[in-house]
Amino acid sequence: MDGNNTRNAIILHEEKDNVAIALRDLTIGEAVRGVSLVEKIPRYHKVAIDGVEPESPVLKYGQIIGYATQRIEPGAWVHSHNMSMGRLFDQSKVATEPSPPADLPRIGDRFFSGFRARDGRAGTRNYIVIASMVDCSARVVEIVVDELNRRKEWFSRRFPNVDGVIGLTHDSGCGVVALSPGHIRQNLTMRNLLDHPNVGGRVVVQLGCEKSQAALVFGSERVIPFESARETDESPTLPAITIQDEGGTWPTVEKILRYVETVLFPQVNRRRRVLIPAAELIVAMQCGGSNAVSGFTANAAIGFASDLIVRCDGTTFIGETTETFGAGHLLTRRARTRAIAQLYLDHVAWYEKYLERGDGNAQANLAHGNMEGGLTTIAEKSLGSVAKGGTSALEWVNDYAERITAKGFGFMNSPAYDPASATGQTAGGALVGVFSTGAGSCFGGLLIPWIKVVSNTDTFNRMEDMEINAGTIADGEATVEDVGRLIFEQIIACAGGARTYSEKLGYSVVNIWNSGVVT
Ligand code: CA
Repeated sequence: MDGNNTRNAIILHEEKDNVAIALRDLTIGEAVRGVSLVEKIPRYHKVAIDGVEPESPVLKYGQIIGYATQRIEPGAWVHSHNMSMGRLFDQSKVATEPSPPADLPRIGDRFFSGFRARDGRAGTRNYIVIASMVDCSARVVEIVVDELNRRKEWFSRRFPNVDGVIGLTHDSGCGVVALSPGHIRQNLTMRNLLDHPNVGGRVVVQLGCEKSQAALVFGSERVIPFESARETDESPTLPAITIQDEGGTWPTVEKILRYVETVLFPQVNRRRRVLIPAAELIVAMQCGGSNAVSGFTANAAIGFASDLIVRCDGTTFIGETTETFGAGHLLTRRARTRAIAQLYLDHVAWYEKYLERGDGNAQANLAHGNMEGGLTTIAEKSLGSVAKGGTSALEWVNDYAERITAKGFGFMNSPAYDPASATGQTAGGALVGVFSTGAGSCFGGLLIPWIKVVSNTDTFNRMEDMEINAGTIADGEATVEDVGRLIFEQIIACAGGARTYSEKLGYSVVNIWNSGVVT
């Protein structure tokens, strides 16, 4: 890559590319790779280094990112005014026979300091969760969490092994068509979030008359009345309380507060960190607010870290189905089997229909900040996005929020919308999240740490929420491997209890992807 830089003015990913990326604002008349610029090129935007005929492909990363909609002169700015996605969505190109890459050498000597859940799974945090079954019981959860957080200092001194109290509320749980796909997805997500290994103790708050009855969602044998919860501390039961039975808001709040303070805190505090092989890590990768350098800085470095986790025999995965549109062939070719590739293609086909239902299409994924940042088409964004997944074989494909049981690199069907996607990834069992951003996001999800990796030094200096600067790659100061190793070490550190910026601030965003129809 180094030889292709013109004194850090541009970056050309592959020799066959006909566009390069400006690494700073470029002016008319400036020469790059022997081409004199015919207009101003904003930083991180594309400049044509060859002429492109109408309907001809625009190439970046050696891949087609769209087609010229008019003749593009060498030295011209390339963006939505002269190129578009065109005819890129030809699934036959994606559904080729898989040829998975050879396994990279194994790493067997890495560990983290984590918790053991009751069922033996590894955990990275130790939380008490107060969950509402329906929007109507959410306020009780908020009051309880507010009350407990008022005494946070006292609790954290008295019960230092407890990471905190989290409210898990949502805006559904009733109204949806009972047992419709949307309702089932909502219930699965709730169940898998409450069964997450980072949940040391929990309380479920019902109104009483909602469709998402705790007994339906979790199974009647697991839901126990509050009064008997004390005797079954260590079993995988869910203590549930019902507002309509308790006599309203305050009697319910008081009863929960008493239970959390006298039973849950001492019980959850007994969980201690132990040494756990890195092979048990499940790492979710996500991006929000990408720009044109994300693909070869932050996402490439995250991809390197992902390969290191896979080499430890751990699990990593991407989601964001819409951000693989136009780059799906890079996943299906890497699939371990044809069946795994087909599962991915089925999710893509389902998602295209889902978008049509809302008068949308794949290109609708591009946000204002992406376009400002120099990305023109969803394929261009996707090619950069898929780089987060490294180079390992695609070993598994799950639907949204489905429990992850396989090893290696995988894919989860989910929206690209960060809160909804990350909630599904966490429900699936992610223990650490790595979040790539260009414009700078302050996202923090519930239950797990989200490490922010930023694609450019400007945003790193401007936004204090960022953890790792991958902009050093574009600046020519570090390699993808350098930053990838830094991300890997940060994953191990955060798995062992090091807190991210968003955790210190108390971010705990929940957004369950609910595609259901409301009655
Ligand atoms: Ca996202």
